[in-house]
Amino acid sequence: MNPPPPSPLPVDFAVRRGADAVNGKVGAFELFLLAQAQSHDGLEHAIDRESRQQRPGHTHGAADQLRGKTHPAQAAKRRVEGRVIGQDRLTSDIVRLRVQLDESFPYKAGQFANIGIASQPGVSRSYSFATAVQPDAQVSFFVRKVPDGQFSSLINDANVLGQAMSIEGPMGDFWLRPAEAPLLLIAGGSGLAPVLAMLQDALNNGVGRPVTLLFGARREGDLYALDAIQAIARQWPAAFRFVPVLSQEPEGSAWPGLRGLVTDQLAAHLQDGAHAYLCGPPAMIDSAVNVLRDHGVPREHIHADRFTTQQDVPVTA
Ligand SMILES: Cc1cc2nc3c(=O)[nH]c(=O)nc-3n(C[C@H](O)[C@H](O)[C@H](O)COP(=O)(O)OP(=O)(O)OC[C@H]3O[C@@H](n4cnc5c(N)ncnc54)[C@H](O)[C@@H]3O)c2cc1C
Repeated sequence: MNPPPPSPLPVDFAVRRGADAVNGKVGAFELFLLAQAQSHDGLEHAIDRESRQQRPGHTHGAADQLRGKTHPAQAAKRRVEGRVIGQDRLTSDIVRLRVQLDESFPYKAGQFANIGIASQPGVSRSYSFATAVQPDAQVSFFVRKVPDGQFSSLINDANVLGQAMSIEGPMGDFWLRPAEAPLLLIAGGSGLAPVLAMLQDALNNGVGRPVTLLFGARREGDLYALDAIQAIARQWPAAFRFVPVLSQEPEGSAWPGLRGLVTDQLAAHLQDGAHAYLCGPPAMIDSAVNVLRDHGVPREHIHADRFTTQQDVPVTA
């Protein structure tokens, strides 16, 4: 497995572009990009975000969907085989798994699949796609190790390169709804996966909504995919603000950014009329949704994907 990259937020992470640079505070660990926002014809209000139900329908061009010209529709659910071609350590407990599929596998950025691996027959777990659809039928997932977790421990601790995998999906109702409102994206831990996928897809499709991305992690070493975020931010055609928040960074460390729970930062970063997309552990989602509701964000503008595990599933007699 490749070693983790050095933890490294470049000191010059705050970058600006265009004449309309954002006024106000620019922390060393916040990133702003402003250029001309593009407008989109067509507004569509959000649909309930927590359904994991498959919705039959036809696929449409992603660009058309994002511009509101078509109704978002679901690719038909199916199972595709593949092989692990990459197992890269991103943090001490998150691994990026890259899989070469035998055939293309359309999905909406933000959705997830159930994946299984040859060495654990009969076991499958849900993971969100960590990129927009790739032309080469490769897919990636960020797998965080859950203590005593069967599947995530294998991916984090064993060499699975070359193993056969199956993926079944796509599933989930977490994707970017067409609108023009500013976006408040909140990701905790491996919950960054679908958020990155959405951002990549939105960038590919010319979405120009202002973005604030709040990324909650424990310590500085738990921040990852910063290069990818920075690359998206540099190309983003509107304001792009990246705000990492650390909950367990040791007192007195050199970390110059925000500390505490990511939910504590929501109110300060909530723009009027913003639509929120949240992904991560259920406790974070619940708490964030409460804060957003308390600040007047309507339910239909809050979309959340909970990374539940077996532990979160209520035991029924
Ligand atoms: C829609 C969705 C998307 C997801 N996307 C991601 C993602 O992109 N990245 C990611 O890292 N995770 C994601 N998850 C979580 C992921 O699906 C797995 O649940 C997680 O990786 C743990 O799987 P595991 O096999 O390692 O753990 P499991 O073996 O399933 O165990 C999980 C935890 O539950 C405990 N446990 C197991 N069985 C029981 C039981 N019967 N009673 C009580 N406790 C029990 C275990 O001790 C462990 O602590 C997602 C979940 C959902 C629902």
